[in-house]
Amino acid sequence: METTTTEPTATTAATITDTTTTPELLIGSHLSTAGGWDALIKRSHEEGGSAFAFFPRSPYGKRSKALDPAQAGEFGARLKAEHYGPLVVHAPYVYNLAGKDEAKRAFAIEALAEDIELLTPIREAGQETTINIHPGAHVGQGTDTGCRLISEGLNRVLERASGVMVLLETMAGKGTECGRSFEELAAIIDGVDDKEHIGVTLDTCHVLDAGYDLVSDYDGVKRRLDNIIGLDRVKAIHVNDSQFGLGSHKDRHANIGEGQLGIPFFTRLVNDPDMARLPMILETKEVTPATHREEIALLRSLVA
Ligand SMILES: [Zn+2]
Repeated sequence: METTTTEPTATTAATITDTTTTPELLIGSHLSTAGGWDALIKRSHEEGGSAFAFFPRSPYGKRSKALDPAQAGEFGARLKAEHYGPLVVHAPYVYNLAGKDEAKRAFAIEALAEDIELLTPIREAGQETTINIHPGAHVGQGTDTGCRLISEGLNRVLERASGVMVLLETMAGKGTECGRSFEELAAIIDGVDDKEHIGVTLDTCHVLDAGYDLVSDYDGVKRRLDNIIGLDRVKAIHVNDSQFGLGSHKDRHANIGEGQLGIPFFTRLVNDPDMARLPMILETKEVTPATHREEIALLRSLVA
């Protein structure tokens, strides 16, 4: 991008005017819950993070033994005391609110409500907390039906438990995934009654994958996002580079700077005040135990 040639003056101006107001990036990775709440904080300290994600239960939907609900409030109070950015908990991939089978949808509703109940004491302790979900896959029923089922499912979840905000993730458009376009996400949100508790997570890899040209038309994509969903609905970012290019619908994350998005894009992202204020979660491959620590440091170093 051409930004490198125009950047120096902008950088100087920003450092003069914004040193006290520009917050540090709220950033971290998706961490393992093995060992429980304390181990999560320890892992976050090791990577030098100021935000993080985790699964509230096993990938197949079994309740976690490591995450004792009785200790959740204490965990929240510790994070709050350490000035953590919002948690972006990731719901297991097995939830499908758009499933064909009624029992599958009922399981997703039940489990998501339970996850919200597990996380509520964290938020009540003063630590901002959200739960991110893959909206769902319509499995041949069509996008309109899929989006409608997701809205209906979310209505049932939020009637039961609304202690933390649910974030719909922007999807790559693999298979029959719903939420592959800003319009689909807007349609889902439109059908949700309790709009106070619905937001969006931007996954940078998925957005490129879905066909939005973040590399050569960053401003255009952002404008469409604002017009269709509203920037104020975006509450978190999954910061991932992409192995495949624009519109590939592959959903293959790459390490930061090693994919099709590249360093100029990430420089733009972390210097965009609308984005830099949001918690950023890495879902990149741990090539070595130091990968995430290095990627966090790299992204911080890009802040002008
Ligand atoms: Zn995800």
